[in-house]
Amino acid sequence: MPRQETTRDHAAWLRDDLMRGMPHFITTAWTPDQRLFDTEAIAEAWRKIGFRSVHILSKHETGPALYPARHRNDNLDRDFFGEQVDAYVRRDIRVSAYYCVGLDDWAGGMHPEWCVRDEHGQFADTTFWASPSWMCLSSPWRDFAIQELHEVAEYPISGFWLDILGLPVDPALCFCDHCARAYSDFAGAANLTNMRGSEGHWEFKMWSHKRFVEDARQVLRDHGRDPTVIFNGAGAPFFKRYAEPFDGSDSDSTECHNPVLMGAIGRLNRNSGNAFELLSCSEQSWVHTVLKPDTLVELEAFAAAAQGATYTVGFTVTPEGRFSPGNIDRMASINAKLEAQGEYLRGTTPIYDVGVVSSRDNREMREVIGNVWRWTDFMRQGHLLHNVLPGFHNLDAQRVVAIPAGIAIDSAARVALEAYVRGGGNLIVEAPTRHELGDGPYFLRDLLGLTFQGRSQSDWHYIEPADPILRRDGMTTDPILVPGPADAVQLDGAEQLGALIHEFVPHDLAHLIFLANPPHRDPPDQPGITLNRYGKGCVVFIAAQLSRRSPRDMTDPWAGTLAQNLATLLLDDRPAATIEAGARIELVANRQDGRIIIHLLNHAYSPTPALPAPDVRELQTAGIMPTSIHSRGVIDRTGPIAVSLDPEMLGMYPTSARLVPEGEDLALSTESNRQLFEVPGLGVHQTIVLE
Ligand SMILES: [Zn+2]
Repeated sequence: MPRQETTRDHAAWLRDDLMRGMPHFITTAWTPDQRLFDTEAIAEAWRKIGFRSVHILSKHETGPALYPARHRNDNLDRDFFGEQVDAYVRRDIRVSAYYCVGLDDWAGGMHPEWCVRDEHGQFADTTFWASPSWMCLSSPWRDFAIQELHEVAEYPISGFWLDILGLPVDPALCFCDHCARAYSDFAGAANLTNMRGSEGHWEFKMWSHKRFVEDARQVLRDHGRDPTVIFNGAGAPFFKRYAEPFDGSDSDSTECHNPVLMGAIGRLNRNSGNAFELLSCSEQSWVHTVLKPDTLVELEAFAAAAQGATYTVGFTVTPEGRFSPGNIDRMASINAKLEAQGEYLRGTTPIYDVGVVSSRDNREMREVIGNVWRWTDFMRQGHLLHNVLPGFHNLDAQRVVAIPAGIAIDSAARVALEAYVRGGGNLIVEAPTRHELGDGPYFLRDLLGLTFQGRSQSDWHYIEPADPILRRDGMTTDPILVPGPADAVQLDGAEQLGALIHEFVPHDLAHLIFLANPPHRDPPDQPGITLNRYGKGCVVFIAAQLSRRSPRDMTDPWAGTLAQNLATLLLDDRPAATIEAGARIELVANRQDGRIIIHLLNHAYSPTPALPAPDVRELQTAGIMPTSIHSRGVIDRTGPIAVSLDPEMLGMYPTSARLVPEGEDLALSTESNRQLFEVPGLGVHQTIVLE
């Protein structure tokens, strides 16, 4: 991993918290009368829930400051921040100061020349944030904000939590006069306008961001505080409209708001070895008065904790200046459940069979996230122990690595992949993948054992698996339909596991002919799935893109089933652990001091069964977001769940299986090379400890 600073003593507490609190909006319309805000009542709520740390606002998302800021004229009559720090620290609760760097309506009003601008001098579109003022980090706002952080660090805080930090990812932003000057300083002579969207422009943005983080850290040192700086979006490869490099934060910190996404981001973050938190809210969103269901909050808490994360949960202050009493009670109960399992949740390492490659570059990830999340969904829904890899790092953590369509592969990645496969690792490569010189040979041609012959531009193709293992798990006996173009390839060392068919209209798919281009009348039987042996490992190639989304996904499980069967094939049919259960049950396995800890998470309580994919927003809004439909018959149950382990693959032969915290022992049996046991029913979540 590029990140060198994996553990920092001053941030050890970040790793230890299973749950953390984060209140929002203690003033504004929600509490029109400031006298009602009851600092002691809220401090007691934190204590009752059992939080050991909280992130609290020193300056609102859009301003104002919640302490008496020295250089503002919109201060409130009360030092909300200082009162809280005092009340919480008195109760041994650590406080990180939330400070919104990116938005500030007061500063933007007083100094519109400090705001982010496009090339025509126009303000950026900030409707997403409901704030008109996106502050530019190259402008004097930067020094103003650092000065305010000095004021905040006079309180006994344990660090900063910075929101909306950095210059915008959008290549059309920022081109203000300050950025023009700062860029010329940074790059030496080059003109920013000429550099729009270039690598140089991006590096300038990253540099501005990192410089701010380091200066904020120095502020804390200057005041004798723990130099812990966290910024929102550290470790989050998606969505946000501002630059988010992975490095520099003492904790990765990602707004998830969805337990399925927590599993994906949690896996991604675990690769760094850094502390990380996954954020959501106890209410339905950040600024909302209606609670989420208890089951959803509990699922989020365990979805985060199963990954070794801190579940950082938002609270909205009621108009009476307190928290909802019902919310306090249920959060206390959920935190108590987490703490009761604390010894099995802290200090674990994950067990993986399959890794899905994502990108460490946010610009690229925005392009390919739909494909990455689809493969992640496939693996989760197939109950494969899966990792989400930050680029091509940590390949050796699993026996199979899937490279979704469109992921950029550079020379260093190719060297790493060749070493991985030569040593016994296995790859799944999905078309389209990188070529030499535009449309030339495959960049991975040695690994693939294929010659590229061109790209078929039909709107639809069929893949017909041949190997019997690819027909398992309820797989259809018909060829499967894959939307989009496909690669024509010739075998050059690889063997064929399945065919690519340009024209195939069986009777039950006959209606689809309306959606297909006029088919080739005499289609050749081309390779659709291939396998190449390379060193001690194997490389599977799929000529059409299984991860490509289609409105038909909600009734078409076959791409997922085929992806799962390909992974199982490359695992020699020996997954380290798997379960027999419906697609909404997620399996997590961790290792810890001679133990294996299994988590079963029931996403029947999740708001969506699949990962959000911003690139198919039109599908989402049409109500046809891909679902977790599967093909294994009627087993979508929460009754007894069969768990199957391969002790050799786990490197451990458990002699006992026990439900936690219930303590009930489960009978272990052996069948050929696998150990089996049955979990009696599943509510929201179940932990099983194997020793
Ligand atoms: Zn600017």
